Amino acid sequence: MRTIYLNGHFVPETEGKVSVFDRGFLFADAVYEVVSVLYGKLVDFDGHVQRLARSLGEIGIIGAPDADDWLAICRELVARNNLKEGMIYWQVTRGSPEDRDFVFPPADTLPTVLAFTQSRTLADNPLAQRGIRVITMPDLRWGRADIKTTQLLYASLMKNEAIARGADDAWMERNGWITEGSAQNAHIITHAGVLITHPLNREILHGITRASVLPLVAQRIEERPFSVSEAEQAAEAFVSSASGFVMPVVQINGQKIGNGQPGSATVQLRRAYIDWARRTAI
Ligand code: PLP
Repeated sequence: MRTIYLNGHFVPETEGKVSVFDRGFLFADAVYEVVSVLYGKLVDFDGHVQRLARSLGEIGIIGAPDADDWLAICRELVARNNLKEGMIYWQVTRGSPEDRDFVFPPADTLPTVLAFTQSRTLADNPLAQRGIRVITMPDLRWGRADIKTTQLLYASLMKNEAIARGADDAWMERNGWITEGSAQNAHIITHAGVLITHPLNREILHGITRASVLPLVAQRIEERPFSVSEAEQAAEAFVSSASGFVMPVVQINGQKIGNGQPGSATVQLRRAYIDWARRTAI
């Protein structure tokens, strides 16, 4: 059984209890992070802790742990759960007032702070050998995709629809332009050898993995939106995320990308990112 962290305590997972009035439960009034763990160490910790602080600031939740606290919490969870490889999920909600109300609770209401580990094979994930198939779907999320909130219903619906339609995941599009994956940033490499990735604005999550991967890219990079048809005709495609690292995309809307196998530049980039992650994990 896992040991989790909840509101200052390390407890068995079955003993972590949150109020039914918690704002995270009733309003998805909460933000989260997912940090990967390799060899028992935290990958891209600073990036994730900084983005969490930004997400909290954007929606005005105060009183969450600071960077040093998060580091201590994560290291304790890794040790207590003997985690070698996988993820740590963090969530902070606006807390548990005594009743349901759209109006925020008093400023002295403590946030609910949760963290737990998930043991997974990340570096040798067999999906990376095969590559994933994606289907494009309209991006119907709210206009602040840059805030990492727990409002993940639409992403979950899309992912399940993609699976029901024989694919692995969804890419979202607005007016024919790809924004991002259900829980990953989306990238393509053109036949001219240019990597194209959506610019950082409110339409996408500012991926921590994206930020660490781009400096490792050998190709020229263009940060601009790309269209669904550009994606379908790309030489290579991939997604980036904390848990998937660099994951090749081998099919978009039933259209093979390249020869239908993970592209060579993508495979190289995945390797480079994993090397970098191992070197810099703390
Ligand atoms: N885009 C969305 C919508 C996500 O949910 C995620 C991760 O969960 C990402 C992109 C990738 O971000 P990161 O690399 O920080 O995991």
